Amino acid sequence: MDATTQKPLKLLLLGGTSESTRLAKAVAQMPGVAAVLSLAGRTRKAAPSPVPVRVGGFGGVDGLAHYLVQNGVDIVVDATHPFAAQISNHAIAACTKAKVPLLAIERPPWQRTDRDIWIEHATVEDAIAALPDAPSTVFSALGRSAIPLLCAKPQHRYVIRVVDPSAPPAELPEAVIISARGPFRTEDDIALFREYRIARVLAKNSGGDAAYSKIAAARALQLPVHIVKRPDIAKRHTVTTSDEALSWIAHHHASRTKRGV
Ligand code: NAP
Repeated sequence: MDATTQKPLKLLLLGGTSESTRLAKAVAQMPGVAAVLSLAGRTRKAAPSPVPVRVGGFGGVDGLAHYLVQNGVDIVVDATHPFAAQISNHAIAACTKAKVPLLAIERPPWQRTDRDIWIEHATVEDAIAALPDAPSTVFSALGRSAIPLLCAKPQHRYVIRVVDPSAPPAELPEAVIISARGPFRTEDDIALFREYRIARVLAKNSGGDAAYSKIAAARALQLPVHIVKRPDIAKRHTVTTSDEALSWIAHHHASRTKRGV
C-alpha cells in the first residue's frame, strides 16, 4: 500500500490552551494526519481552529474510552491546561482502557525569583482565605470558576480578568470584570495594576509565556502574589512544548507508514 492510499492517522487533541491552538495549526499542515480538536466549551467564543472541533465533555473515563474506540482514534495528545486535572486523569485512564497511546504537553511551572513576593497555596480556596482581612484592591487571574469563591472575602475590591464578559456577583458589587484573552504584555499589566491601584495578585502557577505578564508586573511593582500550586496528575508520558508533541505525532505517522497500515 502506498502512502497516499493509507488511512490517515487519527489524532484526538484535547485542547483549550495556546499549545493546543499552535499544535492544531501545525497538524493541519501534516498530510496523512486527521486531527480533531476537543474543547470543553467553557468559553463562549473559541479561538478559530484549522482542524475540526468537537465541543463538550465525553461523559467521564468510560465516555472518552468509548469515543476513542468508536472514532478509531490512533493517538491522543493532551494539551489541556495544567489545572485541568480531571480531564487529564480521565485521558490517562481512557487511553489505557482503549489501548491508545497518549502524550501530554506539560509546560514547566513558573519559578520564583529573588525579587518575587510569592505566597504559595495548595488550592484556590486556600489562596483566597489567605488574603488579609483589611480591605484592599486585589487582581484575580484565577479564572471564572473562582469568582463565586472570592465572595468568601467580600471586603476586598476585586479586578478580575477572564475570557468572557460577565457581571460581578451581587455579593461583590464593586468588582471590575475585565474580559480579555492572552497573550498579555508585562508593560500593559504594570499599567493596569497602577491604574487600579492593585495591592496584591491572585494567580495559578500555569506556566508558559502567554499569562506570565502578571507575575512579571507584580515583581516590577513589588506586589505580593498568592500563587496556587499545580494539582496532581497521574504519571504519563509528557513533553513540555507543542514542537516536541509534533515530533511525537510525526513519529507515530512514520511508523504507521512503515508498517503499511
Ligand atoms: P477539568 O476540571 O479537568 O475537566 C472537567 C470536565 O470537563 C472533564 O471531566 C470533561 O468532562 C470536560 N473537559 C475538560 N476539558 C475538556 C476538553 N478539552 N474536551 C472535552 N471535554 C473536556 O477542566 P477545567 O479545569 O474545567 O478546564 C476546562 C477546559 O478549559 C480545559 O479543556 C482546559 O484546557 C481549559 N482551561 C482551563 C484552565 C484552568 O485553569 N482550569 C485555564 C485555561 C484553560 P467529561 O468528564 O464529561 O468528559
